[in-house]
Amino acid sequence: MTHWTLPRTLSAEDADTRMREGTSALSVVFSPDAPATAEALAAFSRDLASASVGVRIRITGPEADVHAAAAVALEQGALPEELVLVCDAVIDEAPVRRVFCVHCSHITRTEAPIDGTCDCDGCGKRLGVHRHFSRRHSAYMGTAASSVPGAPA
Ligand SMILES: [Zn+2]
Repeated sequence: MTHWTLPRTLSAEDADTRMREGTSALSVVFSPDAPATAEALAAFSRDLASASVGVRIRITGPEADVHAAAAVALEQGALPEELVLVCDAVIDEAPVRRVFCVHCSHITRTEAPIDGTCDCDGCGKRLGVHRHFSRRHSAYMGTAASSVPGAPA
């Protein structure tokens, strides 16, 4: 597997210079008709692998798809500062969120609202969906529902 290597540190001056010099950009757009399926994310991953160092990455689409792709980029070594995330609202549909289960590390896609609950697809625990958003996992944190104030046990 080819890993995408990016500089670990980039000074503000270097970043400004790169932007003036026309840093390359990679843009990916997801939609309900073109969701972030495993195949789509694999294709995005291949694009990242062949991208040049310093590329700026713009990801647009429904929230869960944008964060799924962001997780792929971060996993391949992109820095959060190199990502531009644009979350579209999906009309007539509840937003789908990614919830990271702290008990089994599985990420569940759910329409549950923040401070609501969902069932973990990994371990089956009833999870409370916290406001805390993990940039590392590109997902909201989920813990056993009994640990969320006001959530059903
Ligand atoms: Zn779990």
